[in-house]
Amino acid sequence: MNTAPAELLSTMAPPRLEIRNIKRFFDGRPVVDDVSLQIQAGQVTCLLGPSGCGKSTTLRMIAGVEMQDEGEIYVDGKLICDTVFRVPPERREIGLMFQDFALFPHLSVADNVAFGLKGPKDQKRARVEELLAKVSLSKYIDDYPHQLSGGEQQRVALARALAPRPRIMLMDEPFSGLDNRLRDGIRDETLTLLREEDTAVLLVTHEPEEAMRMADEIALMRGGRIVQQGAPYNVYTRPVDKAAVAFFSDVN
Ligand code: ADP
Ligand code: MG
Repeated sequence: MNTAPAELLSTMAPPRLEIRNIKRFFDGRPVVDDVSLQIQAGQVTCLLGPSGCGKSTTLRMIAGVEMQDEGEIYVDGKLICDTVFRVPPERREIGLMFQDFALFPHLSVADNVAFGLKGPKDQKRARVEELLAKVSLSKYIDDYPHQLSGGEQQRVALARALAPRPRIMLMDEPFSGLDNRLRDGIRDETLTLLREEDTAVLLVTHEPEEAMRMADEIALMRGGRIVQQGAPYNVYTRPVDKAAVAFFSDVN
């Protein structure tokens, strides 16, 4: 039971995103097995683990495009999904960015970024200009996606995802399609932009290096479970077991 005085409790914001004891079974096998996480606004949490460990399935349940078999999801302390109640994906105020989440080829850069925006035209335009300036792409505002490089398209996709000011950003291996030479720069730029927005970020990756570079907190996942969680330095220097040591050393 929480015994904090009422006035103290009222100053403590609930986590922006909380998932509680989420489970998902495929063919009777748990692929996400009792996963719980809390992420505060302004925080980047990396769900890190080898291919097939259940990262994308976890993300899809938070996005609302897949239903969990057990557990609950809360945004700002409000239940948005359990096994009977479900806020539909389009009403969850979630921004999505995937590796192959392409821009609309027939829309200009400006219209791509404005896609999820509502309200007066000049307000939308101002938000589009603000974000394109932040990703250093103002001069491409009236161009079309095919005129941009892969890295530039990725930055437009980030601007598009952030434009409606999502409460939560879900990113599934967003940089894995990019050239190695570009990746570090885009990771840093993405992080800078995310930090300027009032959003909680869950970034899925199988690359320890990416998690070390970008995360405030790492949740290490294996076989559907979170096996270790903490600040990158702690997770890296105090691995929970031999498999964690191997995972961190394999890729680097
Ligand atoms: P990750 O993103 O960590 O690579 P996934 O969440 O995509 O892992 O997949 C976790 C496990 O669940 C894998 O073994 C995968 O084959 C299985 N899986 C994912 N989606 C389905 C599905 N729709 N039907 C059956 N098995 C699935
Ligand atoms: Mg995946």
